[in-house]
Amino acid sequence: MTIPIQSRSLRGAVETAQPTGLPFANPTQSFWTDSSPNANLLASRGSEGPLTDDADICIVGSGITGVGVAYHLAQAAQATGYASMREGPLKVVILEARDFCSGATGRNGGHLRAATYIGYAAREAAFGRDEAMRSYKVEAYTTRSIVSIVREHGWDNDIDMVNGGHIRLYLTEAGACDARRDLECARMSSLDLNAVKWIEKDEMATEYGPPYPGVYSPAYNLWPLKFVTKLYEHTEGLSGQHFSLTLHTHTPATAVERVVQTSDYQSGIRPYVVSTSRGSILCSKVVHATNGYASHLLPFLAGCIVPTRGQVMAVRAEVSIDQIKTNAWGNDRGSEYWFVRPAQKDSDEKSLIILGGARQLAVTPFESNVQDDSTVCPVVGKALRNFLPSVFPGKFMPERKPEMEWTGIMGFTEAGDPLVGPVVDPDGNIDTFKGQFIAAGYSGHGMPRAFGCAEIISQMVIAELSDNKWSRPEWLPERFLTWNRIDDLKDSSFKA
Ligand SMILES: Cc1cc2nc3c(=O)[nH]c(=O)nc-3n(C[C@H](O)[C@H](O)[C@H](O)COP(=O)(O)OP(=O)(O)OC[C@H]3O[C@@H](n4cnc5c(N)ncnc54)[C@H](O)[C@@H]3O)c2cc1C
Repeated sequence: MTIPIQSRSLRGAVETAQPTGLPFANPTQSFWTDSSPNANLLASRGSEGPLTDDADICIVGSGITGVGVAYHLAQAAQATGYASMREGPLKVVILEARDFCSGATGRNGGHLRAATYIGYAAREAAFGRDEAMRSYKVEAYTTRSIVSIVREHGWDNDIDMVNGGHIRLYLTEAGACDARRDLECARMSSLDLNAVKWIEKDEMATEYGPPYPGVYSPAYNLWPLKFVTKLYEHTEGLSGQHFSLTLHTHTPATAVERVVQTSDYQSGIRPYVVSTSRGSILCSKVVHATNGYASHLLPFLAGCIVPTRGQVMAVRAEVSIDQIKTNAWGNDRGSEYWFVRPAQKDSDEKSLIILGGARQLAVTPFESNVQDDSTVCPVVGKALRNFLPSVFPGKFMPERKPEMEWTGIMGFTEAGDPLVGPVVDPDGNIDTFKGQFIAAGYSGHGMPRAFGCAEIISQMVIAELSDNKWSRPEWLPERFLTWNRIDDLKDSSFKA
């Protein structure tokens, strides 16, 4: 039985923290998962037939984090000739509760945008210059990694990746003022802002339409599910002497239990049993890549990683893409975000926009502690339908019915930073969960962080398996690391 406790909420109010349930079985259909047949080629892979019963590493969750960990493990196994450390390949299994990649990654806004300056002044004041700069370095590193893998394998067109940049509109004077201060502080600290450009109100109006100032930053948009599918297929293709990968969708993990105290990997004894709806799996390491649902298997994370519902729609403009430009957009006021789907060459078809946000208007405040992605919030939907017509008059019809509208569950932390590393208990013990790792809690901004965090987890797993010491790469913020987040865990610890 679970007993809720009082904990800090994301905005300082007292709230009841309950571990999440498993993902809802009947989620809304997203553009990425359901707008075309075969959009999700791996949807039900491994959902029938025998369940893998033994693995070196069991990854729970098949979003960008889970598949990212598998990809990086495969790279490491190949590079180090992993098989020589033990007999046979490094055996990795991914468990997914629903269809492949049907969590936040398969339901998000499609933006791959490394932050360049937003929040810099406050971060420098809170964490000091080096750590503040790492907040941006981790995103630049992750975005570069994704883009270079896509280009190396020629996936650009398959995943609709567009290098269109991002414009953040400042609809309020206060927002514009904060942005100027962040830019100035970031410049003084030598953050790389070469490609970042302030756009004055008049230029914005002439060039793009909306009569507001804004900031242009380099950014991409893409079809996230197709990227993760390519990544999975590529990783699976690396199976052989050093590495093997299996995927079981529709196989929720229901418990992780330590059955043997030894952590001697070489002996071949498996310390963990992962229970699923279809049987159990013996394994040496467990990676929690469950993001907003992390507290289902790790209940003490309730209140620390808070499930938070986001809403997105695909809606037609009244004009074609050349009148809206290919950029992705965001704003300071309500945090709406949108981009134009790439058009067929020479098409004068009306543009299709992917638009999300407006959580601040939701019936449940900020959609915090909402884990039901089988419904949409009508109030948020109405706000979204009227948002673009208000910013681009004449280019959008007010109240136009979206072609698709969906929700997805994010994992929010109070600080807005993910937790990355070995699972640490609320008293700061690293041994209680030795052999379990987590990367989760990207707070709605995961595309430019999750894949880099997945690389860190794979490095830590390999280091532990091979009795080596892990060292932090310069680009990773120290405060992402789980052992530096004990206060967050204590503040929200859940006691059953
Ligand atoms: C509506 C919305 C819009 C967003 N827009 C953007 C955006 O434009 N740009 C951006 O950078 N970020 C965006 N995000 C955030 C981003 O999508 C996430 O941060 C990122 O996808 C997290 O990836 P993940 O792999 O960690 O988690 P997920 O993709 O959520 O994957 C976790 C997986 O674990 C599975 N799972 C959970 N529990 C279990 C269990 N017990 N057993 C088995 N499987 C389990 C889930 O079904 C899920 O598939 C958005 C998120 C949402 C919801």
